Amino acid sequence: MSTQRAKLVVGNWKMHGRISENAALLTEVAAGASALQKDVRVGVCVPCPYLAQSQALLGGSVVKWGVQDVSAHAGGAYTGEVAAEMAVDFGVTYAIVGHSERRAYHRESPELVGAKTLRALEAGLTPIVCVGETLEERESGATEQVIGTQLDAVLALLSEEQAAGIVVAYEPVWAIGTGKTAQPEQAQAVHAFLRRKLQEKGAAVANALLLYGGSVKPDNARELFAQGDIDGGLIGGASLKSKDFLAICRAAQTALQ
Ligand code: PEP
Repeated sequence: MSTQRAKLVVGNWKMHGRISENAALLTEVAAGASALQKDVRVGVCVPCPYLAQSQALLGGSVVKWGVQDVSAHAGGAYTGEVAAEMAVDFGVTYAIVGHSERRAYHRESPELVGAKTLRALEAGLTPIVCVGETLEERESGATEQVIGTQLDAVLALLSEEQAAGIVVAYEPVWAIGTGKTAQPEQAQAVHAFLRRKLQEKGAAVANALLLYGGSVKPDNARELFAQGDIDGGLIGGASLKSKDFLAICRAAQTALQ
């Protein structure tokens, strides 16, 4: 099924990086990604202070850059927030919204994540909408209900055409930064559920890219990306090392062949 869709691998640097250290990582990722086939898309979502550096070093390469959050507002008296339009000024392509760390530490509701997704789309960005359940929710059998609610709150605000332009990342909270990865079949089952929900929104939406995120590493990426409804990955820790990140990108390429 997924063989017709492109693969996408996006790094989430979280709050890591220093201007002095980023240059090597960005340059190495750009160089390595140039050898990938064009159906493998690559992005890195960096902290906002490094957008100009990313634009300077990645501009003209196949690697796109992005932000890890956007404001739900277009502008105004919202101290500390960053508008999607400001990201656009730096040539940004991707905007992660609804990462579990923002839902947990900043109390972002499903409705707020929906509003952020809409703002990102209206600014011309591609939102990467994160959904995922905690371990407690999984163990109580609530996975589909939790991620269904998270996705519904986003889709409710979007037209079919807008919804076709989002990327959804399934990131089980218990797998993020823990070294515990969902088993490929376990992840595939959730992705198939998400695919059905997208399909209900409209035929065009069913082909939105669905990423898996949560302790993806070079040694587990290939099997995950080979699943029918897993179109790539959102990569945290392993995106900070060019060698590991590029190996994961190559695993996406292998899964396409
Ligand atoms: C993430 O933060 O989006 C993530 C998937 O992190 P990690 O790969 O480190 O688990």
